[in-house]
Amino acid sequence: MLRAVALSMLLAVGVLSIVIAAQPGGLPPAPPLRLEQLDDKLYVLHGGCMCGNTLFYVGDGGVVLVDTKVAGQGAAILDQLRNVTDKPVAMIINTHTHFDHTGSNGELGRVERIVAHENARASLMKTTCAPVTNCGAFKGENERFLPNVTFSDSRTLEVGADRIDVHYFGPGHTDGDTWIVFPDIRVAMGGDLFGAKGVPYIDTENGGTALGYDETIARAVAGLEGRVDTVITGHVDAYPWDDLVRYAEFHRHLEDNVLAAIDAGRTPDDVAADYVPPDHLADFSFIEPFASNFVQLLYSEAQAAR
Ligand SMILES: [Zn+2]
Repeated sequence: MLRAVALSMLLAVGVLSIVIAAQPGGLPPAPPLRLEQLDDKLYVLHGGCMCGNTLFYVGDGGVVLVDTKVAGQGAAILDQLRNVTDKPVAMIINTHTHFDHTGSNGELGRVERIVAHENARASLMKTTCAPVTNCGAFKGENERFLPNVTFSDSRTLEVGADRIDVHYFGPGHTDGDTWIVFPDIRVAMGGDLFGAKGVPYIDTENGGTALGYDETIARAVAGLEGRVDTVITGHVDAYPWDDLVRYAEFHRHLEDNVLAAIDAGRTPDDVAADYVPPDHLADFSFIEPFASNFVQLLYSEAQAAR
């Protein structure tokens, strides 16, 4: 399972060649499309491609659809949605810029509001970018599928009688990761800031940071505490609130270890080879290739900050 998670996240960040090189049999198959009902109003559409989760929040005033997988998934997403409701898509929320979360923005018909953090919109509007950023998909006519509702710190969005809160708690995976809260059902999603129970990929080209990651997750915990019982990850399952609290602890523990290793004159490779989470955090995986990259980045950011 951990390997499957790692592969899915690898693909999610566009480093396909590493996966192909590591897999003698070639690419693993994409996980099957699977619709999970979390609540009367909320569904998670897993898989269908090497891509992030899509959420359907079915409110009185229409559907709030979170993340649109990779390009070419629009018809499959709408098929699944039509199995649960006839209501129109009132709003798309993109948790961040990446191609596996914004890919089918333009395949869901006319959607009045497309919401993202202001930095994610700026990434999608870049003139040129790495493929993972997905700016190339929003040029020319397709500019109309760019986020048209943005926010800086927090914003409350109304869809009919329903309220959805979006928050920004700081940089980590990118500098435009949105936390979405459905307050009436006490569920949150933080995109790839909590993409899986493991070491994340850091997109430095889009403002991601390893050194600030623990603080950002801690701010999310502080900002959401008491309002949320369930947290959906960007790529895997939904977990109880306490798992986000422990994810913050995992990041703090990892960073403390790395900073101590710098002081002790050890190398990033030493840490990457030795680090083991404590027993009560053993469900958080510290595995390659993200583990080494994360530690290396933590080293360089910490040294630059000294
Ligand atoms: Zn991502």
